[in-house]
Amino acid sequence: MPYDFRTFSFRGCGCGNLPDVETDIRASVGQGGVNRSDDSVTIQSALNNIPIDQGGPQVRLAVDGIAGPLTISAIRKFQTRQLGWADGRIDPGGPTLARLRGYSANGNAGGTGGLKTHGGHRRAPSPQMFEVIRRGTAVSVLPHASHALRKTQLNLDLVMARLKVKGVQRMTEISPGESREPRRLWNIFNRHFSVANLSTPAATQSLSSVQQTFENMKAVLDGRPGIWGADIVEIDPITAYVKELDEAVAYTPTTTGDRARQTRLGIMPWRIYFTNLIDGQDFDHYLYTVLHELAHFVDNETQLHIGDIAYGYQPSILRLSHHQRMRNAECYSACAFEMAFGNDRLVGIYPLLRAIEIDDDVIIR
Ligand SMILES: [Zn+2]
Repeated sequence: MPYDFRTFSFRGCGCGNLPDVETDIRASVGQGGVNRSDDSVTIQSALNNIPIDQGGPQVRLAVDGIAGPLTISAIRKFQTRQLGWADGRIDPGGPTLARLRGYSANGNAGGTGGLKTHGGHRRAPSPQMFEVIRRGTAVSVLPHASHALRKTQLNLDLVMARLKVKGVQRMTEISPGESREPRRLWNIFNRHFSVANLSTPAATQSLSSVQQTFENMKAVLDGRPGIWGADIVEIDPITAYVKELDEAVAYTPTTTGDRARQTRLGIMPWRIYFTNLIDGQDFDHYLYTVLHELAHFVDNETQLHIGDIAYGYQPSILRLSHHQRMRNAECYSACAFEMAFGNDRLVGIYPLLRAIEIDDDVIIR
């Protein structure tokens, strides 16, 4: 079964499927709503499963299918706590229903008492202010991500030009009067894609493929609407309730996943959802996360499937073969991040990726 989402965190990642959610209404319920009886039953049951401190009703609602003052008041209380506003009405496909579904998705439909803790990681929904800061930070990194990709493209052009002249065997040589910069860039490329043992034609082909991927990543970002492509980032509406997303600082609904299930939970493919675990992290973490997810976004456009084989915090990333690296998102994000911002900043995120440069110039003639 194809996965519905892919998660990203700085200490553990994964893929998973969203739970099936039965909660659905055919028309609006609450203040000024259509108030079909069966829909009202659905909403009353769902509200009764919300813990009081999360916006659930102070006194359990009678599940009688009549959307009276108590039901409307309970809708208002839930909206105020969860969304920061209240109109007393729940619409099909609306934000209140999406929040409500999150609780059902957590398996609480049996009325077992609301939000469960799971391995100590389950989080309550973020306070509004943190979400504002999170979104602001997420948007503010986008021009930096675009810059990183542009700089990486230019740097790899230099590497390609030199590779064509020198061949793999002589890429680390420095001729008299030659700038060290192309060699430094080659070393970065090699550190992330392990090309030094390839033949020159194979290395050239791999470099060309990597260049194409970075070009696609930049096109995806630049092609999104909003300021700097702001539409690509979004605040997560569901992780507090979906245990498979427990460790994620961000996640992306996949394009191959169950579209209906994604829609029911109010999330869309081709967006990066930032969760409250990224709150308080520094700018570079946001920036790195965007670069990593962009590498996944382009995998449908190339012959290469770019997935997650190893992450920057895992020693196994240092032992990946060339072919594995070509299919590992982290190798693309780490390469672009280092080319644009240097090894010190990359090490700030992943200490394992510290560059050990051996400054043994081989001067030829
Ligand atoms: Zn990933």
